[in-house]
Amino acid sequence: MKRLTPSEVLDMHRNVRESLADPTVRRYLDGFMRDTVEKAVKGKKTEVERWKEIGSVFGQLFHPANNPDQFAALLSKDLFSARTYQVTEEMVDAVSAMYRRSQQEGMFTVTLGELPSEAGFAWFDKPITHIDKHGKVVKARAISWGLQPVTYFTEDYTQEDIDRAMAGQDVKDGKKTMTVQGVRVVTWFSVTDKDEIWDQEYQDAWIRETHGRYRVLYSHSFTLPFGQRFSFSAEDQGDDMMAWIKTLWVFMNTEIVTSTRPHLRAFSMKKFQRSMKEPPEVNVIYLRRRHVDYDSFGVPQPAGLIDWSCRWVVQGHHRHLEKYPGPKHHALPDPAFANTKCLTCGSKITWVHPYVKGPDDKPVRALEQLYLLRQ
Ligand SMILES: [Zn+2]
Repeated sequence: MKRLTPSEVLDMHRNVRESLADPTVRRYLDGFMRDTVEKAVKGKKTEVERWKEIGSVFGQLFHPANNPDQFAALLSKDLFSARTYQVTEEMVDAVSAMYRRSQQEGMFTVTLGELPSEAGFAWFDKPITHIDKHGKVVKARAISWGLQPVTYFTEDYTQEDIDRAMAGQDVKDGKKTMTVQGVRVVTWFSVTDKDEIWDQEYQDAWIRETHGRYRVLYSHSFTLPFGQRFSFSAEDQGDDMMAWIKTLWVFMNTEIVTSTRPHLRAFSMKKFQRSMKEPPEVNVIYLRRRHVDYDSFGVPQPAGLIDWSCRWVVQGHHRHLEKYPGPKHHALPDPAFANTKCLTCGSKITWVHPYVKGPDDKPVRALEQLYLLRQ
């Protein structure tokens, strides 16, 4: 797939939301939900075991929807108010590298403050690749998210209790429930991205049935309560998509990442405004870079001395703006001058944001420095 222009990303966001009203897409969602339930109850002997498993799966994936129509309505609501993001190819690579490192960390939480916006639709210029729990390579092209309160029973419950709670009625015998805020995260795949579960016949049939209108489909979803601790899926062989997405959000909150809002086609903006809530703009997310490199002493780097075999992250630092008297030293910010002068020599200094240097086609190194940025 050719790299989409920001206007095309805006069109794609609107297109994905519109697809949720299409009968073919509803049938697909219905099939996915049935499949999920079938897999969940496999091998469960008693009725109680079965509905507890179904309850757990629905809670994690589709909460609070009971059927495809309700679920499509939830996804549609999230996409309606979602901000549009376009994540560049090098950002996808950097997040994947960082995610692989952080997998060793064990536990993570998601908090409201980490979300780049309360609802979002992020398109990836390069599909994100992960291993599913059956060991197959699966690709995703976009994610979306939106706020979702989650209600728990704080003591043992029955099927009847669940039904009553779902219907908004009081639960019998004063059983206690607890409601916390959380986020629903959805991954979307493109039927034209080839991966290990890709199928030519399926793609042809899909494009035929939807008359080529919808090429991006629901892949998976999770509802995560804020502040709860999750472990990286050590027991599963596969990747943890939520941990990858969490890594993306962490990145988006660091100085190393920056964004632009490019000019968009009037036609795309008008169409977007007609059916969506947010202003029609696309935030393009990329790694910060500079054309002139300085070393930490503020000396411009002669190109010959730089190792161009990889890219690496240069941490944010202060740098002298002019020639300064005395021996060579690091710029040291003086709070008395709002950090605009050097404490050592009194010369003017400036803050250099962290950025990435090196050729675009080389892997990003030294991502551990992002941990430091975050703390
Ligand atoms: Zn100085």
